[in-house]
Amino acid sequence: MSNSKLRWRIGEVEIIQVAEMEENEIFSSFIPEAKRERIKKIKWLRPNFADERGELKSLVQSFIVRSEGKNILIDTCNGNDKDRPNVPEWGNLQTNYLKKFSKVGVVLEQIDYVACTHLHFDHVGWNTKLEDGKWVPTFPNAKYLFSKGEYEYWIKRPKKEMIDDFNGIDDSVTPVVEAGLAEFVVDDYKIDKNVRFMPTPGHTPHHVSVVIESEGKKAIITGDVMHHPCQIAHQEWTTEADTYPDQTVETRRKFLNKVKDTDTLVIGSHFANPVAGKVVSRKKELRLKV
Ligand SMILES: [Zn+2]
Repeated sequence: MSNSKLRWRIGEVEIIQVAEMEENEIFSSFIPEAKRERIKKIKWLRPNFADERGELKSLVQSFIVRSEGKNILIDTCNGNDKDRPNVPEWGNLQTNYLKKFSKVGVVLEQIDYVACTHLHFDHVGWNTKLEDGKWVPTFPNAKYLFSKGEYEYWIKRPKKEMIDDFNGIDDSVTPVVEAGLAEFVVDDYKIDKNVRFMPTPGHTPHHVSVVIESEGKKAIITGDVMHHPCQIAHQEWTTEADTYPDQTVETRRKFLNKVKDTDTLVIGSHFANPVAGKVVSRKKELRLKV
């Protein structure tokens, strides 16, 4: 990936990409039905979202939403130094993610809010960083917004979920709560007049997407309502990490029905560059038009 810094303007709000890493193979196996032969048939995925061999292209990334003079960071990727035995490719990373903030003109102390779409480990990682052997909040002046229901689900350590996510709670959520920086909110919480949560449950029980609306323009940061644009063509394709696969599909269908053939910019949390587009219908099929 080039050191790209994509930006979008939605009315008076600016959205800035902060990417942590490219990731291809994990997502290809993560959506079991996204076999290469099937991906090759969805021609509009090339060249941005799949390669000639039918391998998916993806990103792990965050977005800074600048609204009413505040910086709101949406999701915090994997983080460095984290122990992730089930997905070792995303454990013990040493990326230069934090340096990218100064490159886009934001220092860590200027992040006013951190909002996590859900509490999977690849969305909370940079909530904390390792300092003298301890996990400390990376954004010292931020309020960290977590769905109350989502937090309550994860602290009970539900049996069907994997150890990496529990590790994520322990090293990237609990230290924030103990530092007094967490705020537990409802699933349709309004951060300010332009930015709000929209409940999109299924992938996790209290998963949310983030709606940005200003001066008649609208964008939605998806979270993991979809992991890859191939799920716009095949809305029924679930992932191994969906807590409730049936609800995930229902939520995705509703989401896509709502945005299709509108001016809403859909910004995919794991979509490869250029990351955003409009959902359009061609005959009976939906696709992402970038
Ligand atoms: Zn994710």
